[in-house]
Amino acid sequence: MHSVGFDACGVVRAENLSDAKARFEEWLEGGGAYGLDYLTRNIDKRFDPTQLLEGAKSVIVGAVGYKNRFSGTYQPDFDARIASYALSTDYHTSLREMLRNVALGLGFDDPKRVKICVDSVPLAEKSFAQLAGIGWIGRNSLIINPTLGSFMVLGALVIPEECDEYSTPYESDGCVGCGRCLLRCPTGAIRPNRTINTALCISNRTIEVGTTDPFDTHGWVFGCDECQACCPHNATTPLFRNERFSPRVTPTDYDGNFWAKLTPEEGKKLFDGTPIVRKFKKQ
Ligand code: SF4
Ligand code: SF4
Repeated sequence: MHSVGFDACGVVRAENLSDAKARFEEWLEGGGAYGLDYLTRNIDKRFDPTQLLEGAKSVIVGAVGYKNRFSGTYQPDFDARIASYALSTDYHTSLREMLRNVALGLGFDDPKRVKICVDSVPLAEKSFAQLAGIGWIGRNSLIINPTLGSFMVLGALVIPEECDEYSTPYESDGCVGCGRCLLRCPTGAIRPNRTINTALCISNRTIEVGTTDPFDTHGWVFGCDECQACCPHNATTPLFRNERFSPRVTPTDYDGNFWAKLTPEEGKKLFDGTPIVRKFKKQ
């Protein structure tokens, strides 16, 4: 996994995570999926890898650190902030290629024998990452690794083979005694029970759902890093190691005035190949 560019990894049995599914359904019943209709579909598959791949036996989970010089470093008055994960090549593309290389390295030449899961395939990646020993699920609802912090993206490979050894779940909770992210979140979107009120989350509103109703994005135009920027576990974590996550956009080149005038056609061209184009494809 490290040779293809992952920074942390682990392996979990392909079992149904019924407890995590119950918590997810409770969150959905409370209106958690605000505008994210895809979350209400394929719930069984999300927590049961055997429904994603016939004969699934193991789930290999990988994490890559993407922290860069814009992760939590914007000046307070900068009015066009972009979440730092979005500044490099779309991680869906990068992680899919990396996981394909892992599959090939394991001898799965036929892509139909495995399932690559990167967001677009429903899999509860954070729950599997915790079971794979990668980290704990923080109050900001993100996976936090003791070395890499939370500026990470996750991908998983479901395979039809048993592994010799499986990882030990990450059981410590590095959030005990801290609540900085709850205080820092500009919109109060983080609930005390470690779930996010997606209706209030700037990340959801600037990427997925839009802001046609009055909604203050607090200077963010795409995503939001506030609940990561303040996290003590991100203070000394290393910058990205994998060159695929090197920023190709310099967000401070574009201020709020620029964004206000940007047309969807211009945006698609300018940010081609990064996650940011998603914003313009919806317009
Ligand atoms: S991404 Fe921003 S708005 Fe959403 S929970 Fe984190 S700090 Fe709050
Ligand atoms: S800021 Fe504190 S409470 Fe929030 S995720 Fe980080 S460690 Fe946990």
